[in-house]
Amino acid sequence: MDGKLYNLQEPAPTEFIPEHGTSAEKAYQTVKDETFPQTQPRLNLATFVTTYMDDYGTRLMNEAVGINYIDETEYPRVAVMCGRCINMVANMWNSPEQNEWKTGAVGIGSSEACMLGGVAAWIRWRERRKAAGKPYDKPNLIMSSAYQVVWEKFCQLWQIELRTVPVSRKHPTLDIETAIEMCDENTICIVPIEGVTWTGMNDDVEALNDALEQYNRITGYDIPIHVDAASGGFILPFLNPDKKWDFRLKWVLSISTSGHKYGLVYPGLGWVVWKDKQYLPKEMSFSVNYLGASITQVGLNFSRPAAQILAQYYNFIHLGMEGYREVHSESMAIAEYCHEKIGEMDCFMNYADKLDNPLFIWMMKPEYEKKAKWTLFDLQDKLMQSGWMVPAYTMPKDIEDMVVMRIVVRQGMSRDMADMLIGDIRNAVAELEKLEYPTASRIEVNDGKKHKGHVFTH
Ligand SMILES: *Cc1c(COP(=O)(O)O)cnc(C)c1O
Repeated sequence: MDGKLYNLQEPAPTEFIPEHGTSAEKAYQTVKDETFPQTQPRLNLATFVTTYMDDYGTRLMNEAVGINYIDETEYPRVAVMCGRCINMVANMWNSPEQNEWKTGAVGIGSSEACMLGGVAAWIRWRERRKAAGKPYDKPNLIMSSAYQVVWEKFCQLWQIELRTVPVSRKHPTLDIETAIEMCDENTICIVPIEGVTWTGMNDDVEALNDALEQYNRITGYDIPIHVDAASGGFILPFLNPDKKWDFRLKWVLSISTSGHKYGLVYPGLGWVVWKDKQYLPKEMSFSVNYLGASITQVGLNFSRPAAQILAQYYNFIHLGMEGYREVHSESMAIAEYCHEKIGEMDCFMNYADKLDNPLFIWMMKPEYEKKAKWTLFDLQDKLMQSGWMVPAYTMPKDIEDMVVMRIVVRQGMSRDMADMLIGDIRNAVAELEKLEYPTASRIEVNDGKKHKGHVFTH
């Protein structure tokens, strides 16, 4: 080692790759120390994404960390396992497809899966328009204003007009009547959400399907549904299997979900499934033939990690339907417990009466808000001091003056942790209530200025 080597007494390199390297230990320590003071994953109630897997699942992933999914010739069994996962996800959503390998794709998360579902809807619409000799330059997509940001990206990247149906206190989920009014011959699909990121609620896909059935019959259009079931796709089949939101409905032609949310796999993993092969445009699918099986490949990425796919398959065979049901019922019970306790506090009210998924939002009671010297942003900061990450944010446009706070309950959150959290919230509120002067964020909110809120939420 010479004096020019980066050592721990110097500022960490930020702009250029250092001329000389440093020891593995020092490099490791630097990286480790930089990331150490961040939120502890178990106390992070902001994220939907898996922060806990058991030892065997973790071991499988670590052992597969060097495997590239795309190298199918080298690792054909990974592709087969991916095909099995797609089959299981498709059947979990009541796919009617008769083919041995169901039509779907793996993604890095729901974002990639949503993009693929959206592109397929757009191409199908375009081909129909071309065949009818009609213009196909003004596609649009309809969903509630509580969409996840990936849909804005999708619409911008593919130049599709995003028509949003405002959510409001009157219509806390997708207002179906208004959604149908927004439809026209250029609508490529409507996207209801199961597990809305902003609220935790489910849009009513069955009612939407019925309304579309009538609308399509009258107009002669074929406007389909893509369900963004990033969270709900792995909750509904276990906790509410009789509810019709999936391929049992006529106009639902594709569904996407995040394997790394309630699929219980570490990031990044997503799935998209089509109702049948005919709904996946040929331009998007590449068929690979090996081991006597023809497996369809679709995706935006070429290389991608294989470990998540192995972990998803591991979860499926290890937990089974019963295991998933148990894990999610426990999360749901803890979420309902927190929901009840927060609803009992004088200063708060819940956004919804009942929970569709193991997450919920709440806000200040209007009469309390009028005299409060603090906001939920202050509560977020206070809870951070005890290690909790509980995000506060403002709702989408039309109800953007509404400040809410959200808890996402995931596998491993115990009743004891919930009690600690509720205790910390009560203590924090008691302290905030002693304030003599309004906080900076209270002044901001009262002045009608938009607080930027939590950045990772939507
Ligand atoms: C999380 C989420 C997404 C994006 O999913 P990633 O897996 O993070 O890419 C899309 N839509 C909804 C409704 C979500 O909750």
